[in-house]
Amino acid sequence: MAVLEVIKYPHPILKKRSETVSEIDGEVEKLIQDMKETMYMAGGVGLAACQIGIPRRVIVLDVSPIDPQHSFLALINPEIVSEEGEIDHEEGCLSVPDCLEKVRRKEKVCVRGLSPQGTEMEIKGDGILGIALQHEIDHTNGILILDRVSRLKRDIYRNKLRKEKRKEERP
Ligand SMILES: [Zn+2]
Repeated sequence: MAVLEVIKYPHPILKKRSETVSEIDGEVEKLIQDMKETMYMAGGVGLAACQIGIPRRVIVLDVSPIDPQHSFLALINPEIVSEEGEIDHEEGCLSVPDCLEKVRRKEKVCVRGLSPQGTEMEIKGDGILGIALQHEIDHTNGILILDRVSRLKRDIYRNKLRKEKRKEERP
């Protein structure tokens, strides 16, 4: 297991659609362990493989710090099969530092995918679990919270990044 660096916006890998996993082999198992460790170390409640530079459709979640009735979950090739209602929720992202934005989400989702053992799973999520599932599945499709807010908010964030970069470059 290894703690890896979380890739930050605007790295192009975050904009790419990740590839479907066709076989759950030792490499996928190792990937899940690395993602789990990296997520806990970074203090996040979810992580997608592309965020550590591996563009494969794998996500890990642990929303128990917010909702203790759920525990760690890893899903391979997750897919939303049904959804219901809408809510606005303030979200952050390990790949978009210092950004908290209200994002419109579905209130409830039903997600299908494979467990690390290759068993087909169906997870019905609302509250923080539903939101985290949607956020991580967005990552597997190359979508960031910045893609789900207004253009103005996106521009403000980009300008902030640019200013910070200029500050760093100054001798
Ligand atoms: Zn994220």
